[in-house]
Amino acid sequence: MKDPAVIRARLDARKQELLARARDVHADITRASGPLDKDFAEQVVQMENDAVLAGLSATTAAEIAQINRALKRLEEGAYGDCAVCGQPIDERRLEALPHSDRCIRCAEFAR
Ligand SMILES: [Zn+2]
Repeated sequence: MKDPAVIRARLDARKQELLARARDVHADITRASGPLDKDFAEQVVQMENDAVLAGLSATTAAEIAQINRALKRLEEGAYGDCAVCGQPIDERRLEALPHSDRCIRCAEFAR
């Protein structure tokens, strides 16, 4: 497996990118109600189910939540293992989708 620090950096960069996009949308919606508070990132996670209210696309909110889970799994040393069957996730899949928590077989099965 790759250096966890490298994976973490990639996940963080992607998360920041998504949050920045979300913040822009959010700013458009709430411009009249004053500055955003610094807990916005936390709120985004909580609002995963209220994506429409948050001005986030459901896809963006879901990806942020997935990235947060991947970061947690990285901390726990479980990163790279399928959350469903426990088998290692293919390197190429992780390369393309670093926040993925399922192997290709389980991902296809869930679809
Ligand atoms: Zn699996």
